[in-house]
Amino acid sequence: MRTIDCWTRLQAVLCTSSTRNSAFTALRGLASSSASRPAVSERQDLLTDVLAWEHLLSDEEVAARDTVRSWVSSRFAPHITQAHRVGDFPRQLLPEIAALGLFGANIEGNGCAGMNNVSYGLIMQELERGDSGLRSLVSVQGSLVMYAINAFGSQEQRERWLPRLAAGELLGCFGLTEPSAGSDPAAMLTTATADGPHHYILNGQKAWITGAPLADLAVIWAKVADEDGRVRGFVVERAESAADSFVTPSIEGKWSLRASPTGEVHMTDCRVPSANLLPGTGGLKSPLSCLTNAREGIAWGVTGAALDCYECALDYGLQRQVFNRPLAGYQLFQAQLADMASDIVTSQLMSLHYGRLKDAGTLTPVQVSLHKRHNVAAARRAASSARSMLGGIGITDAYPVMRHLMNIESVYTYEGTDEVHALALGRALTGHNAFV
Ligand SMILES: Cc1cc2nc3c(=O)[nH]c(=O)nc-3n(C[C@H](O)[C@H](O)[C@H](O)COP(=O)(O)OP(=O)(O)OC[C@H]3O[C@@H](n4cnc5c(N)ncnc54)[C@H](O)[C@@H]3O)c2cc1C
Repeated sequence: MRTIDCWTRLQAVLCTSSTRNSAFTALRGLASSSASRPAVSERQDLLTDVLAWEHLLSDEEVAARDTVRSWVSSRFAPHITQAHRVGDFPRQLLPEIAALGLFGANIEGNGCAGMNNVSYGLIMQELERGDSGLRSLVSVQGSLVMYAINAFGSQEQRERWLPRLAAGELLGCFGLTEPSAGSDPAAMLTTATADGPHHYILNGQKAWITGAPLADLAVIWAKVADEDGRVRGFVVERAESAADSFVTPSIEGKWSLRASPTGEVHMTDCRVPSANLLPGTGGLKSPLSCLTNAREGIAWGVTGAALDCYECALDYGLQRQVFNRPLAGYQLFQAQLADMASDIVTSQLMSLHYGRLKDAGTLTPVQVSLHKRHNVAAARRAASSARSMLGGIGITDAYPVMRHLMNIESVYTYEGTDEVHALALGRALTGHNAFV
């Protein structure tokens, strides 16, 4: 019932929006000017017909997808080109994202929407159709930070933080990676040392942390000195930490995920109450289970970027005249489009299958590795093809394709690189560990 409330609230937001569709239509530039070609929705339906999965989705799943798609096109899309140019997230939209119930949407209770994992995946797809940075923000908040607190926190900790994270009153980040420990998180150097019975002292640096510069709290993974270096998770609250003990400088110069602030977390004798230790954490399997949870949403999400590239290339090809006829009429263009459509449909079918397995509680980490690796590689191919199909204009931000192409480079690397997932699959297939 909570989910239906969210959609009802969203519809109210959409109906009162004066900026609806304006800049998004302009962004389509040349492709929006013709009356002779089929409407965008009609062409989308052609791909939907090939996919032929509507009958496999529940009403609630369709509502989740379509409502978020409407919000992204009417409320988010008008801001993204400028946000990408200046390298910041359009923060004024955070209350709307929270009001939609998108933070921790697949968590039950404590102010969260409690949707199933297929609805959640479809939401990720629609967010990433807008921008991978938007999806990253929602993924980190819900699937890493809130998931960690929900899965490993005490009831008191859940009640303390989850409602405020769901409402967007607090923004969180997830600090696992370090400058010298990325694919190999066991090499982390961050330590937590007990300081009497009521506090820990954290020291170390985290790197490449999504949302760190904005975060009110961070789930930090550290080796606990008194437990033989066992990895535990701590919730570090910025407001409760001495200013110079918890510092989150931005990483500048990014050409990817520019609308998603990324930072470091520097902890210098950072004093954290023992009450902020997540009691259920114990060993590296704890953060790795958070990553498995989040990367399933990423595998769904990245296809949204591919869909936007596909639709953009199709629109452009139908409009652009080369050698006195539409670009879309040429065989080479159609072959590229056919490859994109095949990749997208394959990715979506895999997502639906694995989403159902996740809802049934039987999805395995190896399946998630295959899913993430496949769908990100497929989206990367689609964005690269679309970029070339648009010719020169494709390298500008007059179209979203180059932005998606750049964004997908981060998605290819974070939450386990393409290569690391190949190794995980290889180990499962052969029984031989090729990681080390
Ligand atoms: C934009 C962005 C946002 C991020 N957000 C977060 C976040 O919120 N929280 C967080 O904790 N982390 C985050 N990360 C970090 C991300 O998860 C790491 O970048 C990733 O795990 C890779 O680690 P690394 O960059 O240190 O590369 P490395 O581990 O140094 O890898 C370098 C290369 O070596 C390859 N490689 C590694 N090991 C092997 C091997 N055994 N065999 C063969 N090849 C190998 C890799 O595939 C890669 O190609 C983010 C990263 C980016 C780019």
